[in-house]
Amino acid sequence: MLDSISFALLQAAEKQLQNLNSINPRALEEFGAAVRQARENVDEQAEDAEAKTAYFEAACAQHAIEGDLEFDEGADVSLSDDAGAYVQGWKWVSAEDADLCGEPGCHKALDGEGYDGRCGTCADKAEKVRIAATKAMRKSKRKSK
Ligand SMILES: [Zn+2]
Repeated sequence: MLDSISFALLQAAEKQLQNLNSINPRALEEFGAAVRQARENVDEQAEDAEAKTAYFEAACAQHAIEGDLEFDEGADVSLSDDAGAYVQGWKWVSAEDADLCGEPGCHKALDGEGYDGRCGTCADKAEKVRIAATKAMRKSKRKSK
């Protein structure tokens, strides 16, 4: 696909070729056809860009849910032959949905060794923290008596 600058360069080249006397008329004709095709492509791209912007804005305004479905600026938009388009976005999927450890940042498979939605390693860590907290609480209760 040609951009506007490439198209302008092609037009300038066509003008130069028209000024040459020795050019093959058939070659010049083919070149002109290529330039016209390039112009159509540029126009089509501009139309597509407008439609893609409209689909992106509709996705953000009507479908985005913060923390669940988000669209980045400049997201890919794929125009469909049906009446619509696919807009690239980010869908949140929880660790629970994926059967993975629910401890933030862990992402390990649930190995059957853990509990409360945590893998064995994270469940052990959580248990140690719970025990330490219980001991600290009992100690502070004894001191306050
Ligand atoms: Zn884990």
